[in-house]
Amino acid sequence: MLVFTTVAALRCYLRIGQLGGDRIERGVGLVPTMGALHAGHLTLIERARQQNAVVIVSIFVNPLQFGPTEDFQKYPRQLEPDRQLCEEAGVDAIFVPTAEEMGLGKKEKSKVKSQKSKERKFSLLRVPSQQSPVPTQVVPPESMTSVLCGRSRIGHFQGVATIVTKLLNLVQPTRAYFGQKDAQQLAIIRRLVADLNLSVEIVACPTVRESSGLALSSRNRYLTEREKEEASVLYRSLRQAERAFLTGERSSDELIAVTKLELARVPAIEPEYVELVDPTTLIPLDKIEEVGLLAIAARLGSTRLIDNILLRNRQPIVAIDGPAGAGKSTVARQVAQALGLLYLDTGAMYRSVTWLVLQSDIPIEDEPSIAEMVCKCEIELRMSDEPQAPVRVFLNSQEVTQAIRSLEVTSHVSAIAAQPAVRRQLVKQQQLWGEKGGIVVEGRDIGTHVFPDAELKIFLTASVQERAKRRQQELKSQGEADLSLEQMEQNLVLRDWKDSNRDVAPLQKAPDSIEILTDGLSVAEVTARIVSLYREKVDGH
Ligand code: C5P
Repeated sequence: MLVFTTVAALRCYLRIGQLGGDRIERGVGLVPTMGALHAGHLTLIERARQQNAVVIVSIFVNPLQFGPTEDFQKYPRQLEPDRQLCEEAGVDAIFVPTAEEMGLGKKEKSKVKSQKSKERKFSLLRVPSQQSPVPTQVVPPESMTSVLCGRSRIGHFQGVATIVTKLLNLVQPTRAYFGQKDAQQLAIIRRLVADLNLSVEIVACPTVRESSGLALSSRNRYLTEREKEEASVLYRSLRQAERAFLTGERSSDELIAVTKLELARVPAIEPEYVELVDPTTLIPLDKIEEVGLLAIAARLGSTRLIDNILLRNRQPIVAIDGPAGAGKSTVARQVAQALGLLYLDTGAMYRSVTWLVLQSDIPIEDEPSIAEMVCKCEIELRMSDEPQAPVRVFLNSQEVTQAIRSLEVTSHVSAIAAQPAVRRQLVKQQQLWGEKGGIVVEGRDIGTHVFPDAELKIFLTASVQERAKRRQQELKSQGEADLSLEQMEQNLVLRDWKDSNRDVAPLQKAPDSIEILTDGLSVAEVTARIVSLYREKVDGH
């Protein structure tokens, strides 16, 4: 892993020639951080790793985003552990500039420190003078900075927007990764990218939590064990509101009241705000029509904590991922039936494209021709009348339900599914089908890529011996070639390896998914377990 401290060296590294053509095809991912990395940052890095050829993490404690009474001096700085974590996570380069290197000369740094007196509070907004060179800054729309944290953190989002713009211009990444925990920051950055026509995709990643529900944050290290326990009430109160929402409550006043009631159970917590806003515009809502962002800021001793939850007026999504032959499709179908949801078998889509390629004269390696073919083909999935039977699959109006399960298709599908253009097209289609929710989706990348905000994520797995046994029985019942168990195991291991090691959206367990090992469990038992998890998590009982 490379470490850059200067803009010049970073720029040099980023020149296309140095990174090779892969950079153009799969892109560069940027994860901007202030260091003191924790598992939350690691999920951003992991996601970036999955989606890009090159991953760059910037570590910069941005003085512009700290107010005069905030913790700029005290903010945890630990370069060596951060460097190690990045190295272990497969980061290609870290960028660790000084404030001067970022164009905030020494004077600026001391000026931020010296903003203690009240009358100088707004000095960052002053017209720059020669003695005190304030850089050009990016000012987000007032409507987005005058709510939530912007009320008390004057100038904060301007500081964030300025540094993020600088980083995006320096690195020119294909994608940049931000956590949903800082929802206001995320909305402002999305808006900034749209308004300034920046050519970058902003990827939001779900909040990572401790088992108590406490959202991970670099500032959690200011908390004692007892305070950490107290702080977990933030998420509990949001979940309480979510339960009310799921049982039909839509009014902002009511949802906020439910949240405040729960927060009040921990006297040490001093709420600063509880607000319900539109997650894109941040405009306060009276009631939730489509989606609402319920956000909290509170003080606990001298530490300021934030958390939020999205309340979506869409039916829930259940994502089931796992290796080949773990029983995903049988279980997913039955879960969908038990919960009255639709069932989407994404493997059938990759199989259909593979079948079509094998029917044509196009070689498996001819990615451009396959890309063109996949854009033109029409896949239709129909629930079978017989509840136990697999989904019926039609490709360009021809039924291929049986054909796509052949050994030939199975042995080539992973190679086709690894092609970026194929994935792009099929994932787009899957997201479109899942727009309204109310669906159980099964595959390899559902919880990690297709629906990263699914309400319930399951990782279904089993030992390779068990999976081989099941596959053999399945093939036998279909009258397909009788492979030995050993051969079956080898095929599964090979397919898992290919699915887990491809560059784009490999098979991985999402950090917030629940793993179920199905060895020794019947389909009915696994189904019952998922249904009960659903009721607990989504229905709240
Ligand atoms: O689940 P099934 O065995 O039908 O999946 C067939 C293949 O399709 C997998 O081995 C994998 O290569 C690919 N696949 C995928 N992403 C999904 C679902 C399936 O890459 N979401």
